[in-house]
Amino acid sequence: MTESAYVPGVWKCPKCDFRLIQSNLNALDGTVTARDQPGDKCPNCSSPLWRVSWKDEAQENMRIAENQLNRALKAEAEVERLRRIVCLYGNRARMSNAADPVLQQSIDDAFAQAQNQ
Ligand SMILES: [Zn+2]
Repeated sequence: MTESAYVPGVWKCPKCDFRLIQSNLNALDGTVTARDQPGDKCPNCSSPLWRVSWKDEAQENMRIAENQLNRALKAEAEVERLRRIVCLYGNRARMSNAADPVLQQSIDDAFAQAQNQ
């Protein structure tokens, strides 16, 4: 593979999947650039680190994005399930007409808030 086929400054351990992004902090002009020099070893298993191709980088980023999307969908489903529970029990509490008007108002407010989401 040619040099341009690799992501500058990104290295990966072939044994444990440790990932290293090496950067130079250029104090004179405040920029950050890739430090594309080999030599670091994996801190987990001391294996030499390998360069990462753009294809592998893209596939890894897609895997991360899909995992995050799945987490978001699960979280949204759980929020909806809990919102329905709050609405159910909030409605029951609201209908019970609490003797304490402050408590009744907080029940009504919580119920209205749960319905609006
Ligand atoms: Zn390793």
